[in-house]
Amino acid sequence: MRMSQLFVPTLKEDPADAEVISHRLMLRAGMIRKLTAGIYSYLPLGYRSLRKLEQIVREEMDAAGAQEVFLPMVQPAELWIESGRWNLYGTELLRFSDRHKREFCLGPTHEEVITDLVRRDVRSYRDLPLNLYQIQTKFRDEIRPRFGLMRGREFMMKDGYSFDATEQGAEESYRRMQEAYSRIFSRCGLRFRAVEADSGPIGGSFSHEFMVLADTGEDTVVSCDSCQYAANMEKAEVRPCEPVTPAVKGSLTKVSTPGMRTIEEVSQFLKVRPEELIKTLILKTEKSVVAVLIRGDHELNDVKVKNFLNVAELELADERTIQEVTGGPLGFSGPVNLRGITILADNDIRCMGSAVVGANEKDAHLINVNPQADFHVDNFGDFRAAQAGDACPRCDGTLVLSRGIEVGHVFKLGTKYSDAMAATFLDADGKERPMIMGCYGIGVSRTVAAAIEQNHDENGIIFPPPIAPFTVLITPVGAKSSDIESAAEQVYQALWENGIDVLLDDRDERPGVKFKDADLMGIPFRVTIGKKALGERKVELKNRRTGDVTLVALEEIVDAVK
Ligand code: ATP
Ligand code: MG
Ligand code: MG
Ligand code: MG
Repeated sequence: MRMSQLFVPTLKEDPADAEVISHRLMLRAGMIRKLTAGIYSYLPLGYRSLRKLEQIVREEMDAAGAQEVFLPMVQPAELWIESGRWNLYGTELLRFSDRHKREFCLGPTHEEVITDLVRRDVRSYRDLPLNLYQIQTKFRDEIRPRFGLMRGREFMMKDGYSFDATEQGAEESYRRMQEAYSRIFSRCGLRFRAVEADSGPIGGSFSHEFMVLADTGEDTVVSCDSCQYAANMEKAEVRPCEPVTPAVKGSLTKVSTPGMRTIEEVSQFLKVRPEELIKTLILKTEKSVVAVLIRGDHELNDVKVKNFLNVAELELADERTIQEVTGGPLGFSGPVNLRGITILADNDIRCMGSAVVGANEKDAHLINVNPQADFHVDNFGDFRAAQAGDACPRCDGTLVLSRGIEVGHVFKLGTKYSDAMAATFLDADGKERPMIMGCYGIGVSRTVAAAIEQNHDENGIIFPPPIAPFTVLITPVGAKSSDIESAAEQVYQALWENGIDVLLDDRDERPGVKFKDADLMGIPFRVTIGKKALGERKVELKNRRTGDVTLVALEEIVDAVK
């Protein structure tokens, strides 16, 4: 490929609306362009990286016994009604109707479609196990799409689903996928960690997330410094804490709305719009508090509400206002003791065990808040979130906290979908049984972004070679001369013939411009062809990551970059 023909519109300046490094660099390196919120076009460089990653994913999935399929993105509402998720999934599911007024959605995930496919054609235990996957565009109407490809609305996912006849088989399928994922992210050259995770709204009995370790990650990883224990913050085992004397006593005076509630119902009950809910909870805190006991997952503005169960109105037993109690109008980060439960926060409400913790600072949940110290929960036992320096729950080691980006997630689903959708088979005794399922996702587009979050410097991207758009960039420099041009051509041909992805910067640009673009694009090797070295039939080879420069004989260049 020749740079003069390649559509790679690099930018000199940082784009104003890009908050994270991968988003900035992908825009600047001409890899992606935004169409509208959370929806991006992949340009040649970006698409090449994506395709390389896809290829690694395909090879490892195939090697693990999975088969590639391609499922429809437009899904009929009936399937989602059957699984019970039509009413549970909320506004992340983009719904619409066709000309006949039939309802559909754009697939955010494909459990329903795959379960429907398999139940129609798989009848016998002899047809199992079965593991099917696809690499496809997903749509999730994320409440706040942000950070470019990291949290898009339209994004690329590899999603796979396993069907087994026995528990043992299902566990084996899960284990194979876990191993395949480890191989995939290792082959990509990424530093990552598999952590224990909650199953969330997809449901199921256990799950692991694959986290690319990067300071800019949205997730917190709790891990042990001496054993293999690692979990995400929501899952991390919470530790009992020292008993505290609550600073303030409150009491639950009435429970206004017992029973299960959704965000919509709560908003009707409080007569506020759903998006104002959290604010209202906080503003209602003059003398009385609306408490939220939660079950099930919801997202409200930027707030993830987990476990939504109930709304209760609480009144403080003493005469002080919540403001006095908490030391501020927003949330409960100060000491407060309400019998029953409550935690209201402006930015986040999180579930911990069966209680809830929040803080009034972004990302401070479970870190700045100390359950039982900051508030008292009578019914749910004594615990607090894991903190750096805590003892490991599995060994004598110490816990450390780090940041991660969720790039993959494996779930053991059990029979959640096969029960709901009657996906059954006949076992060896002719008995009808539900298939035991697992599901396995990789955020393909997010992984490319995560690779950049983890691998960059002040000059641009430092692609791990397996997912770099090109492996080598040739930059002829100096006064235009036929010697330089023909040497560049010779190196280009030699690399190309040896199957190395090579890009030739044949633009009529100054060396400085070429070098800047080379660093920005993050291509692992740069071969500079200039007059001086060429006099000795040598070229300069620069390693993008180490910055090391070596002189290499023309005919040795292929071996040097292999
Ligand atoms: P998150 O917690 O970041 O919202 P999720 O847990 O909702 O992700 P899963 O349902 O587990 O996502 O989907 C499988 C994978 O798809 C995730 O591990 C992630 O890598 C990717 N993914 C999910 N949502 C997005 C998104 N909005 N943009 C890009 N990739 C995404
Ligand atoms: Mg999500
Ligand atoms: Mg997640
Ligand atoms: Mg997940």
